[in-house]
Amino acid sequence: MATSAINPLDSARKQLRAAAAILKIEPKVLAVLSEPKNELTDDIPVKMDDGSTQNFNSLRVQHNDALGPFKGGIRFGPGVSLDEVKALAMWMTWKTSLAGLPFGGAKGGVICDPKKFSKGELERLSRGYVQQFVEHLGPGKDIPAPDMYTNAQVMAWMLDEYEKLTGHHAPAAFTGKPVELGGIGARESATGYGGFVAVQQVSKLLKLKPKSTAVAIQGFGNVGHNAAQFLFDAGYKIVALSDSQGAIYNKKGLNPAAAMTCKLEKGKIAECYYRGSVVNGSKSGVISNDELLELDVDILIPAALENQITAKNANSIKAKVVVELANGPTTPEADKILQQKKTTVVPDVLANAGGVVASYFEWVQNNYGYYWTDDEVHDKLSKLVTAAFAKAVAESGEHNVDIRTGAYLLALSKVARAIELRGGI
Ligand code: NAD
Repeated sequence: MATSAINPLDSARKQLRAAAAILKIEPKVLAVLSEPKNELTDDIPVKMDDGSTQNFNSLRVQHNDALGPFKGGIRFGPGVSLDEVKALAMWMTWKTSLAGLPFGGAKGGVICDPKKFSKGELERLSRGYVQQFVEHLGPGKDIPAPDMYTNAQVMAWMLDEYEKLTGHHAPAAFTGKPVELGGIGARESATGYGGFVAVQQVSKLLKLKPKSTAVAIQGFGNVGHNAAQFLFDAGYKIVALSDSQGAIYNKKGLNPAAAMTCKLEKGKIAECYYRGSVVNGSKSGVISNDELLELDVDILIPAALENQITAKNANSIKAKVVVELANGPTTPEADKILQQKKTTVVPDVLANAGGVVASYFEWVQNNYGYYWTDDEVHDKLSKLVTAAFAKAVAESGEHNVDIRTGAYLLALSKVARAIELRGGI
């Protein structure tokens, strides 16, 4: 159901306008929030292994920093676009505000096909990105992290380049780093863990018992896989999993760890429908990603891409609850339909905030030079996501709106107030 024609920036702006209208945000503040503060674009020349030099269009969009330094990941990919990065940067502003973090929102991207790069080419591109934008980055300015097709190794190269260019150690300049360079072990699984906490909270709210709660997860990458494992370990019944090449479904339940082992061996999850413990011994079916979205389950977790639930398929969504681990998986038009159907949607700015919360803990620890255990990180993360969930639900109840709008009201009012206090607009 990927409908790339839907512009995520249009969706982000519609969501902003809806919340701003309820809050009666001043037009000049709304104007500030509708556009990024800084939109940096440049071509990065990269020496390729064959001796040629190729230029890659690179972006860093800094949406707002009224509450603290800009914060947001960098994604590499052929489909990266300026509008997508602008939308993601705006969503980061709401996410950090809602979670109560002292950060603003940003996002970065490079238009490239990282799957075709050698390790050396990837390293030169990563270093080139920092060379291009170094004066705009730093622990008190703008702190990048990994996103799609970037990882801890990419952050290590970027940090190393940043420290070479600035002449001092600054581990807090990037988060999502390898543990040896000041990263935290729990960062990798943090978004999935935060999503698991969000599922626990919505289960409590709607009185769903894990054992009788069927969950379908679209996307079996970092976020989807980790969320699946935490949910499975807590007793939830994972009945469907998917990757870009297809999905598997078994109403008796799937084992995510076995599914991952099989996926790594076979290359795609659709090959894993009848492999021992993956399906607990009973035959399951291969279905399409579109069919996965429309399964008769209790909880649907989109954990892959934007624009998966649209006006076209929203009426066919049977799940009682949608927990958005991907960024922007539901369009505003689909949101309205889900609201009419009384589907509970736990929005992305809340459900997938675990990643940036863990990044915040990493930044704090780097600044202090004092490190916590993974259990302490999970404990602090769980408390923070639980508190944000409770506040968003309470706010939505107070204004008689959905949880997304409740979350936006909280996030937006805080950012707007900080802008007003700073003055100068
Ligand atoms: P990833 O690259 O590790 O995994 C993406 C997964 O989605 C892969 O399994 C891929 O095969 C699958 N996929 C791709 N196209 C698909 C399609 N059409 N249908 C079904 N599956 C498809 O990425 P990730 O880090 O897990 O990120 C997933 C989503 O979560 C993104 O929207 C990202 O912005 C969001 N997110 C990630 C983090 C994080 O910490 N990694 C934090 C917040 C939000």
